[in-house]
Amino acid sequence: MNFAALRKAAQSSSVPVEAELVASITWFITIRWLAGIGVIGATWFADTFFRVALPTLALYTIGVSILLYNTAFYVIVRRLSRVPARTLTPYDIFTKTQIGFDWLAMTALIHFSGGLESPAIFYFFFHIIIAATLLSMRATFFYAAMATLLVSGVGVLEYAGILPHYFVLLSATEAAYRQPLFVIGIVFFFISTMFVAAYLSSTLNARLRKREAEVIALSQNLLRAYTRLETVYETAEAVSSTLELAQVLDRLVRRTADALGVRACSIRLLDESGARLKVAAVYGLSDAYIHKGDLILAHNPLAREVIAGKTVIVNDVTAETRLQYPRQALEEGIYSMLSAPLQGKKGPLGLIRAYSSEPNHFTQDDAEFLTAIARQGSIAIENALAYEALGKLDQMKSKFVRTVTHELRSPVSVVRSLLHTLLGGYVGELSETQRAMLQRVQHRADFLQTLIDDLLDLAAGKMDVRAQEERVPVALDEAVHRVVERFQVPAQEKQITLDWECKCPEGPVKIAATNEGVDRILNNLVSNAIKYTPRGGRVSVRMFVRENCATLEVSDTGIGIPEDALPHLFEEFYRAPNAKAQVKEGTGLGLAITKDLVTRFGGHISVQSQVGHGTTFTVTFPILVELPV
Ligand code: ADP
Repeated sequence: MNFAALRKAAQSSSVPVEAELVASITWFITIRWLAGIGVIGATWFADTFFRVALPTLALYTIGVSILLYNTAFYVIVRRLSRVPARTLTPYDIFTKTQIGFDWLAMTALIHFSGGLESPAIFYFFFHIIIAATLLSMRATFFYAAMATLLVSGVGVLEYAGILPHYFVLLSATEAAYRQPLFVIGIVFFFISTMFVAAYLSSTLNARLRKREAEVIALSQNLLRAYTRLETVYETAEAVSSTLELAQVLDRLVRRTADALGVRACSIRLLDESGARLKVAAVYGLSDAYIHKGDLILAHNPLAREVIAGKTVIVNDVTAETRLQYPRQALEEGIYSMLSAPLQGKKGPLGLIRAYSSEPNHFTQDDAEFLTAIARQGSIAIENALAYEALGKLDQMKSKFVRTVTHELRSPVSVVRSLLHTLLGGYVGELSETQRAMLQRVQHRADFLQTLIDDLLDLAAGKMDVRAQEERVPVALDEAVHRVVERFQVPAQEKQITLDWECKCPEGPVKIAATNEGVDRILNNLVSNAIKYTPRGGRVSVRMFVRENCATLEVSDTGIGIPEDALPHLFEEFYRAPNAKAQVKEGTGLGLAITKDLVTRFGGHISVQSQVGHGTTFTVTFPILVELPV
């Protein structure tokens, strides 16, 4: 049986035994049709071809009666099988009634077909086998006793002349039914055969039933083990599919409660002090219970045991002395609990607890299962906590960078403007040496300004991921055109050809972005292309629209990017070795900012490059169909 079938069997409202009984009874009824027809047919056959002196009317009546009461049974079994029974009692009563009717019909048949001389006497054995299949051993022996009583009763009554005797196989001259030895012999063999048959068939059936019960128990265990395994797997998958701590914990409590078949589950995590366990996720508990208070390790021996690494079962809350809130648990209707430790690499993280409304609900199996779930969960929780801490650290770093760079901005501006005044000769003539030195200082101050601007941009991006509503429709083609125009002069100074091609449909191609953001992206890409392309080279900017996306390509014939530098290109402060060697100025921040902005506008950026041949940056944005309101 496969798992799907197993699961179906376990979930079906009727028990397998019940289904089997219905099938057996139906089969019993089918056989009875044959028996009824058989009695009528055999009577007709014997009457027509052998001309035996049969009480045909009585025998036909028996045959027809069998068919009639069988019809009634057929109707009853169809009704019974339509409503799933809570117990097997109706089936049991029904089976016994059928056998009772059959017994009467059989006794009449035996009587009318020659009493102890009747060949129909052997048919009783079928009934014993059927009874053994459908009923208990006791019931089978009861029927065996009844059968022997009925048959020997008929024999004795006929022998005594109280009942008339019908001659069927033996002639009146033989009158075996009147001979005591014949009567005693047949009755003895009939009784012994009936009881041996009853014993053999019921013991065989009992053995078969035992095996069957074992198989059912085994498959149920297998199904439970499978469901749990599936839960562990699903838990692992579910908790690792997200790094959001709240989501990880929420999934964990839900799945655990489901798998253990209990009403509630909670997770508590240790606070910074390591002395209290605070609720971190709950499923199936009332607000009042959740807010009853933290678990304080000093006052809670049970929590201490769990935190020390032990999985603990509380079988009966009313008799448990180690709990901190036993009264609240009882008010909540909780009678048993199972708690497992959540352990991280560096120490305990907290505990996971399952709650049941019945005492003694949890088994050792459940404890092992929860421990396994807790182990899986701990890894996910630790990852999520680390991720959360990293996020906080990143925010702190950005805040720090922002503050420092902001403070640097004004002195640098002042330095640059003073240098401008000096170099402009507004405060007196400068000697050649002085001018050259001041120009170098100006160069450096300009770079410092760029660095500050980049850092501020980067920190701004990290600090507040600008909300969707801040975005506006920006005509990308127009923005590209403007930037290309702006860079014509610097390109010409380096004797670089800067060309621009737009394969766009009529009208502006709009994307959801910010004007400054788009300007920054284009500036970075075009200025890099010019910066990293030697004199006499070419920079081409191409834009085209395909499948609701606007794609922008910035290609150059410059120095290219080494293959092992490509994965780091969008990292902050990263500069490829060839770029560092050939172009002194550079912060390594431009591409990080560019990627951040592109992602924020729902786009995607990629790069292709070959050292010594050139580089192409490709940026794709979804075209704005309708502006989100
Ligand atoms: P910066 O240009 O200030 O160094 P960026 O973040 O703009 O910083 O670029 C990061 C690195 O990517 C550069 O240092 C360079 O190694 C590489 N790079 C970017 N654009 C190009 C390009 N067009 N050609 C070659 N290398 C490039």
